[in-house]
Amino acid sequence: MQSPLPVATAATDPKSVKVNLTTGTGVDIEWNDGHVSHYSFVYLRDACPCAMCEDERGKTCRRPGDPVTAAPGALLIFKPNAKPVSAEGVGKYAIKFSWNDSHDLGLYSWKYLREICPCDGCKEARTAG
Ligand SMILES: [Zn+2]
Ligand SMILES: [Zn+2]
Repeated sequence: MQSPLPVATAATDPKSVKVNLTTGTGVDIEWNDGHVSHYSFVYLRDACPCAMCEDERGKTCRRPGDPVTAAPGALLIFKPNAKPVSAEGVGKYAIKFSWNDSHDLGLYSWKYLREICPCDGCKEARTAG
């Protein structure tokens, strides 16, 4: 039986979280099960879990973190690289970013972040499943 409550397990409980706001290199998370994840800010922005972005991804069949691609023949509109202007922890379970495109609706729970871990091992596990 699975508990419906979001209980933190070693795999979804970060031991340390580093948001490299000043260097702009992204987010580093070390998990309690020893796994280490690195997310670029662009990846996180594209993986925004809010309803609006999820809807947008659904329409274009993108998976969280997939880059936006222009339709064939369409001109790519210049977009500055996504970067948060600020980041704040939300309770014990999530982190929230205010992005430089003034979007700030996404709540990135630790569980979600672990699910979208972009490392090779996790990527393989996701495509295999
Ligand atoms: Zn969003
Ligand atoms: Zn991973």
